[in-house]
Amino acid sequence: MAIAPARKPTTRVLFLVAPGEQPMFTRMNLPPFGTGIVTASLRDAGCDVDLHDLNSDLWRMWRAGEFTKADLRPFYDERAVLDYVGGARNDFLDSFADRLLAGKDIEAAQVVGISAGGDFSFLEMQSAVVIGAHLKRHYGKPIVLGGNNLDYLMQFHDAFHSWWTAVITHFDAAVTGPGEDVFVDLVGKLARERTQLPMARPAPSPGVARLLGDTVLRAPDAAHRILAPDFDGLRLDDYHNFVRDRPTASPRKQEADEMWNRMQLYQFPAYLSWLANETNAQQAGQGVSGRLVMPYVFNYNCPYNCAFCTESLERVKLVHATVDDIVEDMAGLAGKYQTPYFYLFNNYFNLVNGFVEEFASRVILNGVQLHWSDCARFNSLTYERLALMAESGCRKLTFGLETASTKMLKIIDKRVKLAEAERVLGWCKEVGIWADLEIITGLPHEDEDTFAETTDFLERNAANINYFNVNRYFVAPKSLMGAKPEAYGMTLRKFPDAYQRLLDANYRWLAEDLEFSYKPQNFRVYEFDEIDGRSAEQLADVIVPKIAKLNAIQSTDFSDAWRVLSMRQDRAGRTPARFNNETMSMA
Ligand code: SF4
Repeated sequence: MAIAPARKPTTRVLFLVAPGEQPMFTRMNLPPFGTGIVTASLRDAGCDVDLHDLNSDLWRMWRAGEFTKADLRPFYDERAVLDYVGGARNDFLDSFADRLLAGKDIEAAQVVGISAGGDFSFLEMQSAVVIGAHLKRHYGKPIVLGGNNLDYLMQFHDAFHSWWTAVITHFDAAVTGPGEDVFVDLVGKLARERTQLPMARPAPSPGVARLLGDTVLRAPDAAHRILAPDFDGLRLDDYHNFVRDRPTASPRKQEADEMWNRMQLYQFPAYLSWLANETNAQQAGQGVSGRLVMPYVFNYNCPYNCAFCTESLERVKLVHATVDDIVEDMAGLAGKYQTPYFYLFNNYFNLVNGFVEEFASRVILNGVQLHWSDCARFNSLTYERLALMAESGCRKLTFGLETASTKMLKIIDKRVKLAEAERVLGWCKEVGIWADLEIITGLPHEDEDTFAETTDFLERNAANINYFNVNRYFVAPKSLMGAKPEAYGMTLRKFPDAYQRLLDANYRWLAEDLEFSYKPQNFRVYEFDEIDGRSAEQLADVIVPKIAKLNAIQSTDFSDAWRVLSMRQDRAGRTPARFNNETMSMA
């Protein structure tokens, strides 16, 4: 008689996404990418992952009228949350966590992973630790925290020192940087031997934050791996984008529907796309149906060093999947989740020589039906390459121009040639790819002349620019400018109470029931004075007119469409922040 081989026991992981504010403002439209990657890695390693996005639970509680935005005040109270993590009683936080976790099989889990999200959302960061503390207190489970927001909190760890101290003291591990391999390692160790918490070990584990005395230490990041995200187990209907879908209509009508869908998913700026989604959702079943948009990434670690960017400080080896693997992943995700729509979040698409031709020809030859958008750089794009990209499904490219002042471009080491940028924008228009730009205003020593070069460029190329995002400069500590501010003509100002001030600003946004786009600029933790120039206060005074000037150049097509749709939804009084040139800060 043959003896069946002994089955390797699997580790049961409860993996949770902590909720943020978005479900209280607008429908979710994208499944959580980072969580999907870590889930794929854990399942590949043989773990049994029970995956839940608590945003879905918050959304249901919100729609059922179980709480108001103002009720959430305790989540925006530094001391209340950190005391609760430390063991203090707080009936509101405890019962709110209990309601979010209703119906989850907590007892079966050997380890709990919690993603603190990646949207610079304070509700995500605060609710992650509240849920972790609740699970430790009532169920005694080992807790591993992760998510892109931890990277943000670690960059500004001096401002969030109390948060880090509580997390490192009371949880089993907090992961910064890529989590796909670190989680597998931690889950295995925590399920086997719970003798010593990883964060208490003397030797650093890659990617796991530590305390040395009173100092918060970031361990060296683990390396990224390219994986297709795994969203199985999530309530996928909750991320539906509602688009036109009339399979029995004439080919001409179906073609027109597809053009509308591309506009909604790719051409519209986020504020309009969200509103169109809300409007369409009310007509679900009447020629409208829900489709997922898949997030996917196939390259990490940019070779450029734009001085404001978090990619600029350390030289990390490029990670890039092969064309075969990328096309296989995208075709696999499209089939599994029944959607041709993708949002790619690469550093930029055309990063490797020859990649554009190989990718596009493989997609076209294999007959894979895709629609996708991504970031791109102007250099190396030709008319022929853009035409191939359009044929392979590229609908929109977002270019980081940042500024059109040659002097400022040189200072930030952007390596963009303006003549080349103008040519590429024209070609995008010709081949049918919408071209968006990222613009930064408020860089140190940006004066009237350098700012005017940017506005001139935008006006001159308006016909070829679909939309541009206006970003107010903020100092990222993990950038060249953040690491050496004096070299860029800045002296940093740090606020001792930045954490609570940011929490207060975020709570005001909720309690005053402002529109979603009024979300405070949570990454502006530091202000700066210009060396031999203007003070932070003087810079704050000039930023609003600059933003107003930029917004005035923007095409009015989208704002007109927003007004029509919002009147239909009876929401005309609540306008997006950009209509009022607002920049919410913690001040
Ligand atoms: S801004 Fe873009 S191109 Fe520049 S370093 Fe960052 S990711 Fe790379």
